[in-house]
Amino acid sequence: MKIGFIGLGNMGAHMARNLAAAGHEVTGFDVADVAVEGVAQAASASEAVAGAEVVITMLPNGEILRAVAAEVIPAMAENACFIDCSTVDVESARAVAADWPLSVDAPVSGGIGGADAGTLTFMAGGPKEAFAIAEPLFDIMGQKAVHCGDSGAGQAAKICNNMILGATMIVTCEAFALADKLGLDRQKMFDVVSTSSGYSWTMNAYCPAPGIGPQSPADNGYKPGFAAELMLKDLRLSQQAAEAVDAATPLGEHAMQEYTKFVEDEDGRGKDFSAMLPRLEAMKRG
Ligand code: NAD
Repeated sequence: MKIGFIGLGNMGAHMARNLAAAGHEVTGFDVADVAVEGVAQAASASEAVAGAEVVITMLPNGEILRAVAAEVIPAMAENACFIDCSTVDVESARAVAADWPLSVDAPVSGGIGGADAGTLTFMAGGPKEAFAIAEPLFDIMGQKAVHCGDSGAGQAAKICNNMILGATMIVTCEAFALADKLGLDRQKMFDVVSTSSGYSWTMNAYCPAPGIGPQSPADNGYKPGFAAELMLKDLRLSQQAAEAVDAATPLGEHAMQEYTKFVEDEDGRGKDFSAMLPRLEAMKRG
């Protein structure tokens, strides 16, 4: 397939490289002028999409997505499929789909490691015909793709998942900090919780306590992993969406406030989102 790929950053560069390595003819564009193995470089976004059967974007936010879509849509071939893999607000995803009906919003889970290894999970929204075109490409860049529903459903699934993740990480860290002060051994705490009703992905697979459970960013000085500022971005998107549809999300809102303080007022930026644990350990009640 002839693919135009726009946004060759930490995630996009790996994804474009994997598509090229699988035999697709990929032309890429990024304002930062990056070279990616196997990917031809275009001088502009519209040049990258000219004649492409599929256009993929992997951009920082909804505003940039809308600007790029407005630029490339007039240059796209008539039956081309537009696949946005960025994490953006639901409204921006739906606005792009309104302008180009054969489109899929397909944010990912799995981080830079997953993009590199081609093991991402895609959560997709859009018409069946568009998903059918995108699916073989998802299979190259990832290991699982779920068609969640109409346009915007992929973004909705992503922000709901990450709202659970953010709130669960905080409470897992709170529990470790409390257990420490109660004199409970961290390994014992892990042994019990990871096999009891308090278990979760944050405890069992991504334990925020160094030296406990499987390898995680906690064992590497809280180097991300999944950076606290990216978690904050997703929590903000969840609250923006909740406000738009009048949904009550008290813990999601509180999680956003905690990550806002951590990233903006404290030293959380550039650390893994599990560095909530040393933060909470250093705090006192009230
Ligand atoms: P990044 O900042 O490394 O990459 C974004 C790229 O887009 C940059 O290279 C930037 O130069 C380029 N760009 C910006 N404006 C542009 C424009 N107008 N035209 C062309 N290129 C432009 O970000 P990333 O980590 O690759 O993340 C991309 C998206 O994936 C984000 O929406 C992020 O929330 C999401 N995401 C990231 C991760 C992660 O672990 N990094 C995980 C899941 C989802």
